Amino acid sequence: MSVIIEGTEISNKIQDRIKVEVKNCMIRPSVAVIQVGENEAGDYFITAKEKVCSSVGIYFRQYKFEDNVPELTIINKIKELNNDEYVNGIMIQLPLPPQYNEKRLLNTINNGKDVEGLTDINTGRFVNGKKALIPCTALAVVKILDENNIEISGKHVVVVGRSKIVGKPLVNLLLSRDATVTICHSKTENLKEFTKQGDIVIMACGVPKLLTEDMIKNDAVVIDVGINNVDGNICGDVDFDNVSKKTSYITPVPNGVGPVTIAMLLENIIMCYNAKKSK
Ligand code: NDP
Repeated sequence: MSVIIEGTEISNKIQDRIKVEVKNCMIRPSVAVIQVGENEAGDYFITAKEKVCSSVGIYFRQYKFEDNVPELTIINKIKELNNDEYVNGIMIQLPLPPQYNEKRLLNTINNGKDVEGLTDINTGRFVNGKKALIPCTALAVVKILDENNIEISGKHVVVVGRSKIVGKPLVNLLLSRDATVTICHSKTENLKEFTKQGDIVIMACGVPKLLTEDMIKNDAVVIDVGINNVDGNICGDVDFDNVSKKTSYITPVPNGVGPVTIAMLLENIIMCYNAKKSK
């Protein structure tokens, strides 16, 4: 029978530890998020992050801009936050409206405050095996595997999705843990041929219920990163009801990867706080 991995349990355990760390901080750690324009999903994620940060004692600041504000205004705000010694982390809620240069704005964030691990410098350091801030969702997937004692080394892991925030960093993390990794994307022909080979299959493509039971081998581990809104209902990239009959471990959506991602954000904020303290 398949083990259904509850991300909330893992997340709560991490939050409890961080709550104690925050209590022992001389100055209260603080994170700032920048949001541009109206975006329902963005509102949802920001509220979720704020709730968890507040519950562990991390101060959460939100800066909201209309989507007609000049890019320079946002750049100046990021620079101001870079120079604010009481701000330990800075996030930009993605995606940005198309008129803004996402890369330029992200790269304005000071690397030591890049709690989502998205600046080019952090990415480059990570790829080259140096100490870096790593995107939270990729960290969350590996955390889930580790917490369940699921072996990574030597296993064939198939990742579906190659985005900068999930698929690509995940491939790096998995390689650093000696997995054999296959990465698939929208141009992959005959996806099933690849997913069927995976000891571990990680779905991160944003296509509702794309992975069906005929696409995995018996006893595969399936981690579902996807968060899709279908007619007001949230579902993942996995056809959970059917796939879970065949897996050894599987994450549900909601309450799978999502809560662990937020816990990894807390860890990155504390990492930034401690790095600053030791300077
Ligand atoms: P992106 O849209 O940036 O990337 C999607 C990736 O999936 C791309 O690489 C794309 O390929 C690939 N893809 C799209 N369609 C298919 C297909 N039919 N078959 C195979 N590959 C396909 O999405 P994100 O990486 O930002 O997010 C992916 C999902 O994860 C979303 O549902 C998002 O909501 C969710 N998410 C969840 C988080 C969590 O904490 N649980 C955090 C972040 C995201 P190509 O490169 O060729 O376009």
